[in-house]
Amino acid sequence: MKITRIETFRLPPRWLFCRVETDDGIVGWGEPVVEGRAEVVRTAVATLAEYLIGQDPLRIQDHWQVLTKGGFYRGGPVLSSAVAGLDQALWDIAGKAYGVPVHALLGGPVRDAVRVYAWVGGDEPAELADHIAAQVEAGFTAVKMNAAGRTSPLPTAAETAAVVERAATAREALGPDRDMAIDFHGRFTPAGARRVLELIAPLHPLFAEEPVLPEHTPLLPRLVESTAVPIATGERLFSRAEFLPAFQAGIAVAQPDLSHAGGISEVHRIAAVAETFGALLAPHCPLGPLALAASLQVAFATPNFLIQEQSLGIHYNKSADLLSYVLDPAPFRFTDGHAHRTTLPGLGITVDEAAVRQADASAPAWRNPVWRHPDGSFAEW
Ligand SMILES: [Mg+2]
Repeated sequence: MKITRIETFRLPPRWLFCRVETDDGIVGWGEPVVEGRAEVVRTAVATLAEYLIGQDPLRIQDHWQVLTKGGFYRGGPVLSSAVAGLDQALWDIAGKAYGVPVHALLGGPVRDAVRVYAWVGGDEPAELADHIAAQVEAGFTAVKMNAAGRTSPLPTAAETAAVVERAATAREALGPDRDMAIDFHGRFTPAGARRVLELIAPLHPLFAEEPVLPEHTPLLPRLVESTAVPIATGERLFSRAEFLPAFQAGIAVAQPDLSHAGGISEVHRIAAVAETFGALLAPHCPLGPLALAASLQVAFATPNFLIQEQSLGIHYNKSADLLSYVLDPAPFRFTDGHAHRTTLPGLGITVDEAAVRQADASAPAWRNPVWRHPDGSFAEW
């Protein structure tokens, strides 16, 4: 079997799919994207495709090595995401070629259901209790919310109180048996995060996500030691090597993104490293159906898995949603807050190719907002 063609499709709301075709008719799909930089990743995929055309798609490990390291310069979100999407497509092809789901090729299932969480509130959380009630009604047992919108470098007493009040509202709406995760989104300075973490700890968040920016990873050990709240990070880390200092700092939860951190191959390895530090896997996935399908395949085969993000109804998905480009929604039908294992081959989903080709022709560019403080200076989004 040889790879004969690689195409990419830019799709609303902010996604990029890749389609890898082989000479015996098997087609694999992946989702190589950096949110807001889809066009750049598309060019990176085209460059990497030059190497893959004519190759045996089943030599996934070897291709991963060449795609990641063979250009001499390596790493970063764009290249790691381009590799990630192609890697997903190669695993999809391998599963279809062998007639098994990807999780069977990763060693077989260790669970039959994967707990997923739902987003509540947007960038500026409001009407939180209503959102939570709706997700509880839909069967979810865990939700995630942003800690705050635009935040002062050292939060004021009012800003701090607002974070705590929203967390308290969420805890009350959820009761003691459901979980809430709180995403700091790198909007806080290390000192600001320490102050807030202390106050939300009694509300028992499942974890606090990205309490500081990835460039402040050297400060993570002190932050971890300063709080009883489990610390999560990793959506902006792209390899085992980049996760290592975070594990050494004592993070509780690793959040690699299947479409950013080198795909199924590298996230499976990151999970193995996490296991040696007693850390749990909770892949980042505010993306589309291929990224989520790849995440679920890893979750079914990973012992130290905690919970999966998914984007159904997320505030970004305005023009299209998780099910817009799949023919069979069954793999993403969540019951009692869980996705359920199927034995469908490859990634386990069927892409609506006609919808994908049609959407590509008219996809508007998505960009994240640029926020500013009241004095006009740049603020983290
Ligand atoms: Mg996040």
